[in-house]
Amino acid sequence: MSWKLLIDLHKSNNRQGPGSEEQTKMAITLSGLSAASETLQVADIGCGTGASTLVLAENLNAKIIAVDLFPEFLSVLTTNAEKQKLSKKIRTLPCSMDDLPFEEESLDAIWTEGAVYNMGFKKGVAYFKRFLKPGGILAASEITWLTQSRPDEIRSYWDKEYPQIATAADKIRVLEEEGFILKGYFPLPESCWIDNYYDPLRSGFDAFLGRHDTEETRSLIDREANEIALYEKYRDYYSYGFYIARKA
Ligand code: SAH
Repeated sequence: MSWKLLIDLHKSNNRQGPGSEEQTKMAITLSGLSAASETLQVADIGCGTGASTLVLAENLNAKIIAVDLFPEFLSVLTTNAEKQKLSKKIRTLPCSMDDLPFEEESLDAIWTEGAVYNMGFKKGVAYFKRFLKPGGILAASEITWLTQSRPDEIRSYWDKEYPQIATAADKIRVLEEEGFILKGYFPLPESCWIDNYYDPLRSGFDAFLGRHDTEETRSLIDREANEIALYEKYRDYYSYGFYIARKA
């Protein structure tokens, strides 16, 4: 699948994954970062068009480096930051999350919503840790099983798509193994998936196919529609979990 097509499908939406302003604010509260008196150095990794970056900029005394692999997403963020008069607090950086140019122990917080799966949670957590100051915050949302057991259809789908999908207990264990102390966890509510992500995404399917109607794009849309149908059927079994942790 070409990246250009994925960018085209997702770029005009406010989010490229499940989440909401309210949930980002809840994670900020749990992180304790609002209490900072000095300007914080924060990175938002895999920020997409920057839904969370703008909330961080609005609510924190911070300089935020917004990192994404795709400059096309970052340029949408730049435009939105200007509109919201937040440009001074945000710098964009197109680069891969597994090859970050930061100095070790230079950041007060690393934020990453629905993106660390690109590296895998365990590898990402271990890699990001080196860039945090001692006591620095990692806040990550990551797909999470909500229950101990689940129907075969959804288990085998996600095991194939993302084998590191696991329960919150397992994710928290990974954080602890990698040297973090949990400050908070909560699962995202359904509205983060349906209202904020899947509804806007699916409302763009026809226009997308109008722009490029090929076998490849039809199969991409079929895959997205299948993911949505599975969520609607099995939403009681999984969500994104938001994990807020402190570097020990
Ligand atoms: N945080 C955003 C986007 C989540 S979607 C939101 O919640 O809306 C995942 C994001 O990760 C996409 O924007 C994608 O471009 C980005 N991404 C994928 N692989 C990446 C990589 N190797 N390095 C940095 N970003 C990456």
